[in-house]
Order: sequence, then C-alpha cells, then structure tokens
Amino acid sequence: MPVLVMKFGGTSVANIDRIRRAAKRVGVEVANGYDVIVIVSAMSGRTNELVGWVDEISPLYDAREYDAVVSSGENVTAGLMALTLQEMDVPARSWQGWQVPLITTSAHSAARIEEIPTDNISTKFAEGMRVAVVAGFQGISPEGRVTTLGRGGSDTTAVAFAAAFEAERCDIYTDVDGVYTTDPRVTDKARKLDKIAFEEMLELASLGAKVLQTRSVELAMRYNVRLRVVSSFEEQSDNAGTLVCAEEDIMESNVVSGIAYSRDEAKMTLISVADRPGIAAAIFGPLSDAGVNVDMIIQNISEEGRTDMTFSCPTNQVARAEKAMQGAKDRGEINYHDLVADTDVAKISAVGIGMRSQSGVAAKMFKTLSDEGINIKVIATSEIKISVLVDRKYMELAVQALHDAFELDKAA
Ligand code: ADP
Ligand code: ASP
Ligand code: MG
Repeated sequence: MPVLVMKFGGTSVANIDRIRRAAKRVGVEVANGYDVIVIVSAMSGRTNELVGWVDEISPLYDAREYDAVVSSGENVTAGLMALTLQEMDVPARSWQGWQVPLITTSAHSAARIEEIPTDNISTKFAEGMRVAVVAGFQGISPEGRVTTLGRGGSDTTAVAFAAAFEAERCDIYTDVDGVYTTDPRVTDKARKLDKIAFEEMLELASLGAKVLQTRSVELAMRYNVRLRVVSSFEEQSDNAGTLVCAEEDIMESNVVSGIAYSRDEAKMTLISVADRPGIAAAIFGPLSDAGVNVDMIIQNISEEGRTDMTFSCPTNQVARAEKAMQGAKDRGEINYHDLVADTDVAKISAVGIGMRSQSGVAAKMFKTLSDEGINIKVIATSEIKISVLVDRKYMELAVQALHDAFELDKAA
C-alpha cells in the first residue's frame, strides 16, 4: 500500500481533544488506503519545560542527559496517539526512535539522521498494522545513547521517514494553514503562499521562520520529497496548505517572496584588533573550533594599524564565543582591547529567488528602513537574500514596513 507521512506539531497534540482530532485525520487517510507513518511532537510547551528543568539543575549540562530528558515529551504523545487510534479500531502502535532504530550522529542536542532502516516498520505493515506512530525529534547514536535533532526536529524526522519509505507525500500539520509571506503573528497582511521553492523555504527557515526546521527542507530538497504544510485545525476539504517544491514548478513569484526575522541573534564586536594579514583566520578559526555559528561579519576601517571586527552569532553561543576569544588572546594568537556583546538586536531578512535576476532590492530595503528611522547595524547578502541586524525593539516594525514596501500582500 502507498505510504503517507503525517507530522503533528506541538499545538496539534496539545491535549487529548487535539490528539483525537489529529487521530481522526489519520483515520481518514487509512480509509483512503494509505499505510500511515505519523510523526508526533511533544505537547506544546512540554519541551520548553524539560529544557528549563535541565538548565535549572545544570547550566553546563552533559548533552547526553539533556537528550535523555528533552526527548521524553515525544514518547508520551506517541503512546497517546497510538492508544487513540486503537480506540478507533485502527491497528496502530508507537515507536520510539531507538526501536525503529533511527540512527543518528553522536552530536547530542543537534544530531543528524544517518540511517532509517525500514525493515521493522515494513514488517508490521505487512502483518496488518496500518499506522506507525513514531516519536519525532529523537534517535539513537552509534554508542547506543538517545539523541535529539535540535529544536523543531520533528519536521526533520518526518521528511527523513518520507524519504526512507518513499512516501507519496509528507504532510506537516501545524497551527497555521501554510507558509506565509511572513510570520502571520507579526502582520495580518501576511499572505499564504500556495507554493514555495525549496531554496526559498530553506533560506526562510534558516533565517528564523520556524514553520519548518531548516534541516527538514534540506532533506526534502535532496530526496525530492513532496512536502506540504497544512493546518491541523481547518476542515480537510478546504485545506490545501502550501506545497514546498522545485523552482520549475512555480510559474509566477514576486522578486521578494518572504520576510523572516530572528530574535536569537547577537552582535559581537572585538574592539581594536591588529589589522594584519591572517587576523580574520586567527579570530574565526577558534570560533569555528568552538562550534560558534558565525553568520554576518564586518571589518571596520582601520586606523593606525588597528581595527574593530564585528560578527553575529546565535544569542545562546555568546558565552562560547567569549571563551574562544579569551582563549585565543591568552595563547597570544590575537590581541584586542575589549569584546562587546550586544544581545538586544534582531535579524530581518528578505528572501526571493527573483533577486538573482533583479537588482535594486537592497536599495529598496535600506530606504524603507531609513524612512522608518531604523538604524542598520550589520548587513549580509547572498544570491537570494539580504539580512540586516537592527535594534530588537524595531523588529516588528521592520518586518511590517518591508512587507508593505515589497507589496507581499499582493500575488505576483
Ligand atoms: P509546530 O509546533 O506545529 O511545529 P511551530 O511553532 O514550530 O509549529 O511553527 C509554526 C509557527 O511558525 C506559526 O505559528 C508561525 O507563528 C511561525 N511562522 C514563522 N514564520 C512563518 C511563515 N513565514 N509562515 C508561516 N508560519 C510562520
Ligand atoms: N518538541 C521538539 C521542540 O519543541 C521538537 C519539535 O516539536 O519539532 O523543539
Ligand atoms: Mg515546529
């Protein structure tokens, strides 16, 4: 029988009522003739609570135990979903990551999926089981320890299963009815997109649009998974959602197709470093070794052989970056006067494949922000995106102004 993957996020399994509602949707697809792999997240708020407990006990935690704790939320919903389906007379059982076994790297709290053997679940399907309910977000390392895939990782579990089982489609059920031109919580002018190209979704996700985890989009693109984002609250009949697909499958699109934001960005400035050949390598080498994800970089004009170097990184990596820089200073590899961290910033990005062929997007973006009196602190560009760092208090205003300026409320 053809296989369908259905993933339900935290708000879609937030309580027993919602689990029942989700199970009903699964029942419909079983009746349609699919063998269904259901991927569940933890009930909404649960993972945050678990992370909070770990932080309270041990701020510099052992990542293996962090994973043991935070993966547990998904175990609960997997069991509850299987029970609900059984109550509906749908043959179903739950699977934790290690039972599949979903094998990952040993990079605890940010593990990558290495392999999903299909034998165990396929055998059960052959024996008449119709739904495999799999706990999302978790796997097992080659050392036999429980791992997690990073926040939002159930999306990636879902796409990886869809690829492994050559599923007809991977449906991501969530609390919005698709991918929008920007987060609908920030402006009610946000418009739902019927289709979005993999490349654009990849950028939007990595720049902060958390509707899909970045890695899930990467996998969908690589394995050509038919990926759809749909509402778990709307009626099934008028719930087409958004299809994430190849660029060629989209006829018309705006130059800018979406605006993303991230409040988890910090601006770090090394004050007065020697401006000499090799200085960038001496700074960014140790940062990379320490696992700091540096995003934007600017080197200021130098005066009398010294300069300031600014970079951005996720807020929760500031301490790690400071430690890495102090280490390099102590070893005599770099010399700086001070390291200033500004955590009161947000990153705003405009994304669109149309930027490849059309100029003027950056100019329009800067002009729009300037008209609103918003100062740009750092800029970064790539082929299909422009990102700026601004004071966090302007985050919503910047998103709304750019959404208006690029007329994203109107279809191409
Ligand atoms: P789930 O718990 O189902 O995984 P998430 O909270 O991870 O759901 O992702 C859904 C949320 O993503 C939405 O509620 C919305 O606020 C946010 N979001 C951010 N950017 C976008 C966007 N461009 N389109 C749709 N939703 C977005
Ligand atoms: N429960 C995990 C999280 O909140 C994984 C997920 O929901 O995708 O990050
Ligand atoms: Mg999510």
